Amino acid sequence: MIILSGGTGTPKLLTGLEKVFKDERLTIIVNTAEDLWISGNLLCPDLDSVLYTLGGLINKETWWGLKNDSFSTHAALQDLPNPERLMIGDRDRATHIARSELLRRGKSLTEATAALARSFGIPERITILPMTDAPAMIRTKILTPEGELHFQEFWVERRGEPDVLDVQFEGIESVKPSAEVIAALEDKTDPLVLFGPSNPVTSIGPILALEGVRALLKWKVVVAISPIVGTAAVSGPAGKFMRAKGFEVSPYGVYSCYKDLLDMLIIDKRDVCTAAEGVEVLQTDILMKKERDSKRIATFLKEKFSR
Ligand code: GDP
Repeated sequence: MIILSGGTGTPKLLTGLEKVFKDERLTIIVNTAEDLWISGNLLCPDLDSVLYTLGGLINKETWWGLKNDSFSTHAALQDLPNPERLMIGDRDRATHIARSELLRRGKSLTEATAALARSFGIPERITILPMTDAPAMIRTKILTPEGELHFQEFWVERRGEPDVLDVQFEGIESVKPSAEVIAALEDKTDPLVLFGPSNPVTSIGPILALEGVRALLKWKVVVAISPIVGTAAVSGPAGKFMRAKGFEVSPYGVYSCYKDLLDMLIIDKRDVCTAAEGVEVLQTDILMKKERDSKRIATFLKEKFSR
């Protein structure tokens, strides 16, 4: 199975998927449109969340960074020129340093990610692929009445408060999916693609916007799990972003984001989505409060798709 992922909803689901699909190959294609260089190192928020989740190290309160991390370097940087604007934990920063060093030595982001995955003890059957090998070449810009903000500025520094007029991915047209992503999408032996319950605009959207990806997905069986329950995102700014892009904030809105690609949509058991033409709609409890919820949803998928 191939899974498209951002940094919160899909990683939550991965905790169950990796256990329930324990004998299967999992290829996770991860959004890199929020990546940025910070304090000299490449921060890849979504890749890090996937790596830490599958390595059993993620902070499950926030779904970013490592559990029990310290912030000594970040604190020290506040008293120096150019104080660091994002809270980076000490061990989290070690990941960024190792990644950046591998890139400086000529490794691709895909190779650096594979090396990090092995260091975190992630089994070989799980492949984590950055959507592109062009590090931090895309900028997710949030257009607000106060002007343009980088995604991290909007969400972390401004706590998602400004109104959103539009979301744009600067530089995306000049970036290509990695060779490994193309090979995974071309692989006829692995037909199932799951769009995890991630932000359809800023997490799944950039992957779908890469040249050739939509065309390759036409040959796959595409299943999406809604990140929207009722009329709101379970967490994060997906609702604001979907509205800014002209989509309803509802399971139907999620269908509208993906409809030309989708074969099946999984929505919450309390919701209805009758207007999703040409798509099979299944209902189950899609809220993940604990790991057992994630396993329950993974088991639901397994029962549906076991060959
Ligand atoms: P980001 O990269 O941190 O923005 O994370 P993602 O895009 O991967 O995940 C954010 C999305 O996850 C939000 O739109 C949430 O609504 C969704 N989400 C978070 N928790 C849950 C959950 O328990 N169930 C479902 N279905 N979606 C969730």
